[in-house]
Amino acid sequence: MSQQTTFDTITYTTPLPHVAQITLNRPKARNAQDLQMTYDLNAAFDRAAADDGIRAIILAGADPHFCAGHDLSGDSGKTWEDFDQIHNWGSFDPAGAEGRFARESEIYRGMTERWRNVPKPTIAAVQGKCIAGGLMLAWACDIIIAADDAEFRDPVVEMGVCGVEFFAHPWEVGPRKAKEWLFTADWLGAEEARQLGMVNQVVPRAELLTTALAMAERIAKKPLFALKLTKEAVNQAQDTMGRPAAMSQAFSLHQLCHSHNVQVHGIPVDPGGLPEGIRGRFAKKAGPEAAE
Ligand code: ZN
Repeated sequence: MSQQTTFDTITYTTPLPHVAQITLNRPKARNAQDLQMTYDLNAAFDRAAADDGIRAIILAGADPHFCAGHDLSGDSGKTWEDFDQIHNWGSFDPAGAEGRFARESEIYRGMTERWRNVPKPTIAAVQGKCIAGGLMLAWACDIIIAADDAEFRDPVVEMGVCGVEFFAHPWEVGPRKAKEWLFTADWLGAEEARQLGMVNQVVPRAELLTTALAMAERIAKKPLFALKLTKEAVNQAQDTMGRPAAMSQAFSLHQLCHSHNVQVHGIPVDPGGLPEGIRGRFAKKAGPEAAE
C-alpha cells in the first residue's frame, strides 16, 4: 500500500488507503525548515491535494523533535532562483526591506497560509520541541495531536522581533495567554496547549503516529467534498472574525522589527537573543539582508 516519492528534505508516503503522510526528514538539523524543505513541503501538499484518492494528510517530523524552526544557518547554498515561486513578489535580491519582504511573504507567510488552506483535512503529529517556524507548520494543520513530551515556544521576541511571521498566537491560545507566552518566551507544554484549545489530543509518545493514523483513517471514510466544504466553512468563520487582516498587520510589524534591527544591530534580529551556537555563524553567513 505504501508508496513513496523522493524529496530531499521530507518523505511522502501513503500509509493507509486515502491517507498521505508527509514527514519532515532533517533529523540532524532537528527538522529545521530551509528553502529546500519549504518547496518540498509545498510540492508534497500540492501532490496530496491533487490526488483524488487522498482524503486526509498527516504532517509528522522524524524523531527526536518535530521542528526547531526556520533554518537560520543558511539555505544549503540554494537561492530563491533554484525554485519556482508560488507568489508573485519576485526577486529576494533587492537590498533592505524590499528583498526581505518578498522573501518572507513568499516562503513564510504566503506558504503557511497556502498550506493552511489545502482543501483536505490535515493532522499535525507533534513530538519533542516545536519552536518558532515549527509552530507555523503545526498551526497550518487543521488538527494537532501532540505527544506528551511536546513543547511549544516562540522565542522570536528575545531576538527583537514581535513573534513569527504567521502570527496565529492570539487565535490559537487566546489574546491574554498569547501575550504571556510571547513576553516570557516560555515553553508551553502539550497538556496546557490542549487546555487552551491549540492542541486537540495529547497521547503517549509511543502512540503518537498510531493515533494520528487512526484519526486520519476515520476522517478518510467521509465523503471528500463534504470534508472540503466543512474545512472551508470553519476557515471562513475564522477569517470572517478578522484573522487575515490581523495577521497582515502583524506581518507588517514583523518587517518593521527586522528593519529596526538592521539599523541598530546590522542584522535583522537582535544578536543578543540568538542561541549562542548560532550567533556568530548567523551574523557572518546571513549578512544584513538575510531573513529570520
Ligand atoms: Zn522574519
